[in-house]
Amino acid sequence: MIIRIDGKECACEKGEYLLTVARRNGIFIPTLCQHDSQEDGMGACRLCIVEITDRGRKSVVVSCVYPVNHEIEVETNSARILRERRMILALLASRASESLRIRQMCDFYEVPRIDRFVKSPGEKCVMCGLCAKACASLSVGAISTINRGITKKISTPYGDPSTVCIGCGACAKVCPTEAIEWEEDETTRTIWGKTFTLVHCPHCGTVVGTREQIEEAARRSGQEPELLCESCRKERMAKVMADTYGFEPS
Ligand code: SF4
Repeated sequence: MIIRIDGKECACEKGEYLLTVARRNGIFIPTLCQHDSQEDGMGACRLCIVEITDRGRKSVVVSCVYPVNHEIEVETNSARILRERRMILALLASRASESLRIRQMCDFYEVPRIDRFVKSPGEKCVMCGLCAKACASLSVGAISTINRGITKKISTPYGDPSTVCIGCGACAKVCPTEAIEWEEDETTRTIWGKTFTLVHCPHCGTVVGTREQIEEAARRSGQEPELLCESCRKERMAKVMADTYGFEPS
């Protein structure tokens, strides 16, 4: 199937998300809550809105959760989209007033200052929920949304150090606004109020992860805990291949 995005013909499969099609064709649509580690979009930040014309009717859709089912025309930066995207950014900026990334996006889209929105001082989180989704899908599901309304936030159960968190840091790495604080020194990593001991690669000394993270990976794979870092592991594999078959993998 062919659709047109900003005048460009783009091939796509029926059911593919519009954002995926745009990206594959080199068309930029801004997002915060989309991350490559997650197959589906979340539609949480709403920044990826675009205007579509479907059988003569125009409407605004959220591209990361909009499956393409027939031929449509898409505008990613129409006047209506820019107006609505600016409003969304103004709201995000009031919610996450400390986020550098949102400030930069506001500058880029020339978002006017809107004083009537209540500011959340010191806040970086936009409550997109990507961290909780990543923890559930890639790790152990240690964090979730708690409370409602203006007190809603992402937390471990009761805000206590989690009994199941493995300190992998996946939540912090996917966070689009760097809202999740973590500290790391030579030997420890602290995140969500819990301090973990770091394990170093016995060959090169690189940090491999926390002890709990390595144990969880071993539990999932059904193999012995792997203490080597990725590059030392590859080296070991190359040596095994060379010793066994007389060649190294390309
Ligand atoms: S650090 Fe803890 S909360 Fe964050 S993704 Fe890993 S297990 Fe989940």
